[in-house]
Parts: sequence; C-alpha cells; structure tokens
Amino acid sequence: MLESGSGGNPRHLYIHVPFCARRCSYCDFSIAVRREVPVGEYLEALRAELALCNRAGDEWRLDTLYFGGGTPSRLGGVGVQRAMDLVREYASLEGDCEVTLEANPDDVSAHAALRWHDSGVNRLSIGSQSFDNRVLDWMHRTHDSAQIEDAVATARAAGIDNVSLDLIFALPEALGRNWDDDMERLIRLAPRHVSLYGLTIEPHTPAGHWRDRGALLEAPEERYESDFLTAHADFTAAGYEHYEVSNYAQPGYRSRHNSAYWQRSPYVGVGPSAHSFDGIVRSWNVAQYTEWFSRLGKGVDVKAGTEVLGAEETVAEQVYLGLRTASGLLATPAIIDRSRSWVEAGWAVIAGKRIHLTPLGWLRLDTFAADLTLVGSP
Ligand code: SF4
Repeated sequence: MLESGSGGNPRHLYIHVPFCARRCSYCDFSIAVRREVPVGEYLEALRAELALCNRAGDEWRLDTLYFGGGTPSRLGGVGVQRAMDLVREYASLEGDCEVTLEANPDDVSAHAALRWHDSGVNRLSIGSQSFDNRVLDWMHRTHDSAQIEDAVATARAAGIDNVSLDLIFALPEALGRNWDDDMERLIRLAPRHVSLYGLTIEPHTPAGHWRDRGALLEAPEERYESDFLTAHADFTAAGYEHYEVSNYAQPGYRSRHNSAYWQRSPYVGVGPSAHSFDGIVRSWNVAQYTEWFSRLGKGVDVKAGTEVLGAEETVAEQVYLGLRTASGLLATPAIIDRSRSWVEAGWAVIAGKRIHLTPLGWLRLDTFAADLTLVGSP
C-alpha cells in the first residue's frame, strides 16, 4: 500500500501523535483532546499500521523521522522511548538520522528529555508561540513564557542541542502584542531553528467563533507585512538563514525532514490524518483518532483517500515548492520573462536560470506561484 513509487524504500517517516491537553484558540488541526493520554492503545494501533504499511517486511533505512501532532511530547519520556523501539522494529535509523519530536514547553521535564535523548531524539521542536503571558493565555496555551526558557535549557542539559522554536505573528491589534520583545527574547535563547507562522483565523476554531460573534478583529494586512519584515531583518541580522518562507536556521541546522517534503521526496506518514507520498500517489489517513484506532483494531485500511497529481497540478506544485525555498525555482525562459515585472517591483531576483523571492516577494508567494503556473512547466 505505501511502498515508494520511486522503486526504493521510504527514507522519511512521519508519525502523527494527535493528543493535546486542550484546543488552542487558533488551532484547526486534527487532534484528540485527552486529559490522560492512552499511550498503550495508541502504540498498539501504531504497530498495526506500521505492519500494514510494510507488509513486505522490507527494512526501511530512514534519513529522517518526525513525530508531529497534536502534541507528541504528551507521550512522555517512556512513551516516546517505546515509540522509538517500535519504529526500530520496522526501520533502521541511519547514523545521522534526524529525529524530531514536537514538544510543548510544559512537557519538557529533565526526566522526559533524557529519555528522549537516550532513545535517539536529536531535535526538539518546541511550540513556544509567544513570550507574552497574556498572549499565551489568549491562545489557550498550556505554558507560560518562563517554561519556554526552562524547556530550552532542559533540552540542552539532556544533550538535545538542536532546538527549534515557533512564533505566531499578525495577532489581533487589540492584544497589544509587543513583537519586538518576542523577537528579542527568542534570539537571546539562540535556538538552532525558528519557524514563523502568520495567524489565520479558521472557522470552527475558538478564535473563529470569537470573530463570528464580533468579539475579535483580525490583524490588518499591514500588520502581517510589518511583523514578517521585522522578523526577517532581526533573524538575518542574528545570523539565521531564511531557507523557506516560514523557516530560519543557523548554518547547518535546516530541517531535513521538511526539506524532503519541499523537494517532493517520497515519505510515509502513519497515525490519524497523516499523509504519504510515494513519488506518484498521495494518500491520507482518516482524521479522527477513534476511527483510526478502531479500524486498525479490525485490521481495516485507514486510508481515507488517494490522488494522483495530473500534469497541471504537478506543475503548480513544482512552481509553488520551488518559489517557497531559498534555492528558488529552476525556470524556463517563458517563466523568466513572466517574472520581469516582479523583479522590477523588487519582489524577485533572477540568478542564472533560477528565480528567488525577496522578503517582499515571500509575502506575495501565492499570487506569484499562481501567475507562473499559467505559463507552464518549469
Ligand atoms: S498544542 Fe498544537 S496541535 Fe494541540 S491544540 Fe495547540 S496548536 Fe493545536
């Protein structure tokens, strides 16, 4: 079912851990809110899905392994260790395999971090979001700003030096969020990697309901632009490379797992709502934890759908993925011609056969990608 269409075994494995303590105000991910995480039953279902994915019994040799969510750190120290043992029954981890665990700051205890490190986790992606406690309350986060700083120190003390922090920008003006202060506090912590997300308020989230009843006004476009440009200036001045529209890294610390997605490499995803791509076919699992769990208990396939991209969609994807990374889009003469007005506006630069976006261009990525897709295959 999920063999690599490129003829080899997958080099990248994603494991979705859906559990969260509560729903954050902006979150529309597929999650399962649980006070107590059912670690044992989750791992049994995970074992069943891994066995289904690898019916041929091939030994996968992984370059990257990524525990995303949800909140994978809620599995705890022992739970993650058991998940790692399980993965090793089906895959060998290459010597420098990048193993990322997404964690909320309040889950990063000394005991858990040591277990994670000893079981092979070497990269911790910490959902910090802001250093302003009022903002964290508004977001329904389960941690405060001091816990972010503690989590970074605890991870490092346990031997996990490759730490990534997330921040959300373009928050409603009424919150009075001090973006400069957030930048400064984050840079002082010197994480190896930073991910930045502009807030979009989705329907069926707590923030979506606040907006619908008039209790919340979204940030204007100018706020989105000014926050992004401030962050870009501050991070590049601090030595970070802007290597993807939402991601900055110190030299040598780009996310290899996410880079595989942007390069359209095959990967396998397991867990509720996880996606897989074999080089030709994309597939995705049922989103609800209970359905995923119950289907696996009956030995039933958990895939909810598949798609094969047509020529047009493949071009659109190649253009979009090319433009969103710093390595840029390898372009045909027709595409380069079409980009001239963007270069004149200061939104893109052309270097050889590649088009790269400038900081102002990153803000217009979707429009530019749609425009270039009309011109044809790169
Ligand atoms: S911790 Fe992450 S996945 Fe869970 S509710 Fe909050 S934003 Fe969503």
